Amino acid sequence: MNPSGIDFHCHLDLYPDHIRAFKHCEEEGVNILAVTTTPLAWPHNQELAAKSAFIRVGLGLHPQVVGDREGEIERFEKLVAQAQFIGEVGLDAGPRFYRSLAAQRRVFERVLRACSASGPKVLSIHAVRTVPEVLKMLKEWLPISKGLPILHWFSGTPAEVARAVDGGCWFSINPSMAASVNGLKIIDTIPIERMLTETDGPFAKDSNGVALQPGCVDGAVEIIARRKNLTEDMVRGQLLTNLEQVDRFVGYIGSYVRSPLLPESH
Ligand code: MN
Repeated sequence: MNPSGIDFHCHLDLYPDHIRAFKHCEEEGVNILAVTTTPLAWPHNQELAAKSAFIRVGLGLHPQVVGDREGEIERFEKLVAQAQFIGEVGLDAGPRFYRSLAAQRRVFERVLRACSASGPKVLSIHAVRTVPEVLKMLKEWLPISKGLPILHWFSGTPAEVARAVDGGCWFSINPSMAASVNGLKIIDTIPIERMLTETDGPFAKDSNGVALQPGCVDGAVEIIARRKNLTEDMVRGQLLTNLEQVDRFVGYIGSYVRSPLLPESH
């Protein structure tokens, strides 16, 4: 397993040995977005990533914790001007979190308004059973010059993909999406120019039930290659080009090591 893929949504600070997880990304050159679930975790994550050319840290307030932590939006708003990357944020209307949906909406609106006031930002967005509403809120509160939204582990319909693409959204593709027919249809519908890959580790597991390690996105690269009728090297080259474009949006300068075997895309 190639450990150095682009991992644009990973909870580095939730691995049992998170210091090692950060080191792993640095040593292997994993271009990663380390998302956080609460703004209280952001300063420590920033510290751990301070000297890294590979680790971006997202300022987040996860919709699944908003029921208990709505007040933390104030901390988010205080920190937002310092953050280029935002996540994990969004809405979750699944059965476990439906009860807090009203609070989630209040928080997500404030997140988007704060981003719009101090953007540009790149956002990693969770949208479970809420894609139409998330798209509507993005349109209302976040001008495209202020925010580049990336829908992570997308589980909506192919028709919703098309609407999201029209709305300027990008997508981070999780290896688990290859396991469902709907996931494959979604991958077919997303233009490769709007794709990145992700693990969502340590929540996402491999086929043996072991948490995916940061950067282990081979499964996603393989399925994108197959569905788009490209070689895996072509896909990796395109994803690196995409990453540079996303970083450029917020003026982040990363390290983009192209293996000599990888063709420049275009
Ligand atoms: Mn996540």
